[in-house]
Amino acid sequence: MAIKRILIANRGEIALRIHRAAHEMGIETVAVHSTADADAMHVRLADQAVCIGPPPASDSYLNVAAIISAAEVTHADAIHPGYGFLSENAKFAEIVEAHNIAWIGPKPEHIRTMGDKVEAKRTAGALGLPLVPGSDGAVSHFDEARNIAKEIGYPVIIKAASGGGGRGMKVCQSEDQLETLMQQAGSEAKAAFGDATVYIEKYLGNPRHIEFQVFGDGNGNAIHLGERDCSLQRRHQKVLEEAPSPVISTDERHRMGEICAKAMRDMGYRGAGTIEFLWENGEFYFIEMNTRLQVEHPVTEAITGVDLVREQIRIAEGKPLSVAQEDLEFHGHAIECRINAEDPFTFTPSPGAVNYYHASGGMHVRVDSGLYAGYRIPPYYDSMIAKLIVYGRTREGCIMRLRRALEEMVVEGVKTNIPLHQELLRQDDILNGDYSIKWLEEWLAKREG
Ligand code: ADP
Repeated sequence: MAIKRILIANRGEIALRIHRAAHEMGIETVAVHSTADADAMHVRLADQAVCIGPPPASDSYLNVAAIISAAEVTHADAIHPGYGFLSENAKFAEIVEAHNIAWIGPKPEHIRTMGDKVEAKRTAGALGLPLVPGSDGAVSHFDEARNIAKEIGYPVIIKAASGGGGRGMKVCQSEDQLETLMQQAGSEAKAAFGDATVYIEKYLGNPRHIEFQVFGDGNGNAIHLGERDCSLQRRHQKVLEEAPSPVISTDERHRMGEICAKAMRDMGYRGAGTIEFLWENGEFYFIEMNTRLQVEHPVTEAITGVDLVREQIRIAEGKPLSVAQEDLEFHGHAIECRINAEDPFTFTPSPGAVNYYHASGGMHVRVDSGLYAGYRIPPYYDSMIAKLIVYGRTREGCIMRLRRALEEMVVEGVKTNIPLHQELLRQDDILNGDYSIKWLEEWLAKREG
């Protein structure tokens, strides 16, 4: 089936990203927007636009009925959900397909399986992915928890099965805290996610976050596109991502990538996915799988030359993967900085009018953003306003170019975290690639103190 018109159920830079891929394939686009986004760039560039509700996302970008109606009235034959919002909502995917609209995403049953963390871990284990040692599924009794924790050794982490966004986790250092923390984790999970189910894992002290990009055609063929290192995080939010990881060798990339690709083949996975691991002392430990496009996908595009959104659209059309594993080459190095409208020291969001904007340019510099001079950043959504992605033949060259590109970028009227990125790119540990998921918060604490 050839897709002719895609409704993009998202906003901001990712809506633009999808629009660009669609137009390059000769496909028309329909933007949807809240009343707060009437002047947004994704609305201006799309072939058609439909207002789907008031500013709160629950009434607009998460409003399933309004989005389906918008697709029907504009005769869109496909929906791309982007990331966030409805992208990992299996029910929404089913509703889209039930309306005979192509869903540019994984099969609903795979979204559902990977959305439940206990189920995801069980599935990953059965598919041969290495797991963090821990309970085999949910833990409901304290005695069971105590036995498991004794076996794997303290510290352990208690996690909510329905958790997400780094919430609903408790680190437990010793047996005397276990019962209390288990109860706390259960009731907090119940309050936040409506589900008190928890499970237990070994707590890794100083890991890196390394994820593999995978792609399946839904018919048993799948490839991997290497890894991304996303260890630089604050409150589980990624700040800067790079590919390849400074600690993964070519052999390791191919070995682990093949394990991931094989898992996707066995599953019959369709579309883009990311398998996330913690990595410590040379070992990988599966934590979760995201059944969608990731914010940081452009670093993979930079080092492989594959347009991941184009690939998603092709697969939704029932076409095969456009690239075979053996033809895929990894070259050079890419880093992405997430540019947020926020105070670079306190991290308080800084929405408002942008009175001047100048994007970085030059060789191997990509800026994905809906910003323009005169744009008013609404206070209702995520504070990320741009992604700066830079490529270099070597990691050193990439960092030099990135520093240069950060110097060029000007956003006036609101505060941004550009100064934070500039400071980060002068730290020896970052220059040496020597950082774990703890590094940024420890460095920020030192900087304050
Ligand atoms: P969420 O779905 O809430 O993002 P994840 O399972 O992906 O939850 O974990 C989020 C973050 O929590 C990880 O990136 C890591 O920083 C930390 N974390 C999760 N599991 C462990 C563990 N077993 N040991 C140490 N840190 C962990």
